Amino acid sequence: MSFMSKQTSNSKLKSTEAQSLQSVEILNHFRCGFCNKWWSIADAPIKNKWFCPWCGVKQTFKTE
Ligand SMILES: [Zn+2]
Repeated sequence: MSFMSKQTSNSKLKSTEAQSLQSVEILNHFRCGFCNKWWSIADAPIKNKWFCPWCGVKQTFKTE
């Protein structure tokens, strides 16, 4: 019985490995100065003026 369950987990592992992908992303976190809510953009272009997606106010952000 234990042999059977080992076979099942082995074949599961093989199919997972065949489709695996790894990537690195840079996630930028912003905190709005007007509504105080957080939001994030992955691989954002380098600029410091953004519209807040929550309240829509355009503002300048500085990196902490
Ligand atoms: Zn806001």
